[in-house]
Amino acid sequence: MSTAKISIAKKDHSEAIAALQTRFGKQLTTNITVREQHGHTMTWLANQPPDAVLTVQDKHEVAAAVEICNQYQMPVIAFGIGSSLEGQLNAPYGGLCIDMHAMDGILQVHNEDLTVTVQPGVTREQLNHYLRDTGLFFPIDPGANASIGGMVATRASGTNAVRYGTMKDVVLALEIVTASGEIVRTGTRAKKSAAGYDLTRLMIGSEETLGIVTEVTLKLFGISECIGSGICHFPTIEDACQAVMLTIQMCLPIARIELLDAMQIKACNQYANLDLDETLPYL
Ligand SMILES: Cc1cc2nc3c(=O)[nH]c(=O)nc-3n(C[C@H](O)[C@H](O)[C@H](O)COP(=O)(O)OP(=O)(O)OC[C@H]3O[C@@H](n4cnc5c(N)ncnc54)[C@H](O)[C@@H]3O)c2cc1C
Repeated sequence: MSTAKISIAKKDHSEAIAALQTRFGKQLTTNITVREQHGHTMTWLANQPPDAVLTVQDKHEVAAAVEICNQYQMPVIAFGIGSSLEGQLNAPYGGLCIDMHAMDGILQVHNEDLTVTVQPGVTREQLNHYLRDTGLFFPIDPGANASIGGMVATRASGTNAVRYGTMKDVVLALEIVTASGEIVRTGTRAKKSAAGYDLTRLMIGSEETLGIVTEVTLKLFGISECIGSGICHFPTIEDACQAVMLTIQMCLPIARIELLDAMQIKACNQYANLDLDETLPYL
C-alpha cells in the first residue's frame, strides 16, 4: 500500500491583508515573531503561523474583519491565550489570526441568579478574582489560565468535572460572529428553555469552525462553607476505583478525585521530597 503525501496549497492572501490594513491600521501586524507566537506552540506539531495577526477591541471589529476575510476567501483563526494542546491554532492554509485577549470585559454579574456575562478574552482566573467577594465562583478548571472563549470553543473540562461538569454544562447563552460577519445570539439566561434548536450546544466544542464567540453567559456556583481534602492509599487500582464509584453512588458532594498510580507517586516523591509508599495507588 502506498502512502499518499498530503500537500496543502497555500493561497496568496496579500489582497485581503491590504484591505484589512486599510480598515484596521496598526491593530494588524504581519511581523513574523508575532505570527509565530500565534501559530501553535504547545504541541509536537510544527508551528504554522498565520499571514497576519489582528487584535480586536469589540464584536463590530470581529464582524468587520470576518466580512473582509469572507470576501477574499481568507481563513480565520480566533486566538484566546494559546493553551490548547492539539494544534488548533496552526494555520496550514495561512489566514488571519484574530487575537481576542483585549476583549476582556466582565459585563454583568447576577448574584441572585448565579450567572455572569463576559467577553471571550476574560480568563478563568481573572473571572474568579473578580468574583472573590461575592461568595460565588466559576468552577471549570482546565489547568491552564485559559480564556473563556477558548474554553467554549474546545468544550474544556478539568479536575472539577465530577461535580460541576464541563463547559457544555455551564454555558447558558452566546453571542457569535458567523462566517459572513453577521452577529447572532443563542440561548438566554433562563435555565428553562426548550424552544428551537440548541445552537448554544452546537457551538460549544466546535473549535471556531462555526463562528467566533464574542460574548458568553455562564452559570456560577456558591463556594462551599467548608471544604475538606484527604489522601487514601489502596492495595490495588481496582479498590481505588470502587471507592470512587461508591462515593458518587452515596451522593457525597465531591468536587474532585484524582488517582495517582505507583509511577505518579514516585514522581511526586522525587519532586516534593516526600516519602509516600511507591508500591501503592493513592486517591
Ligand atoms: C497544563 C495544561 C493542562 C490542560 N488541561 C486541560 C484539561 O484538563 N481539560 C481541558 O479541556 N483542556 C486542558 N488543557 C487545554 C487548554 O487549556 C484548553 O483547550 C483551553 O480551553 C484552551 O483555551 P485558550 O484560551 O488557550 O484557547 P486557544 O488555545 O487560544 O484556542 C483554542 C481553540 O479555540 C478557538 N478559540 C479561541 N477563542 C475563541 C473565540 N472567542 N471564539 C471561537 N473560537 C475561539 C481557537 O481558534 C482554537 O481552535 C490544558 C492545557 C495545558 C497547557
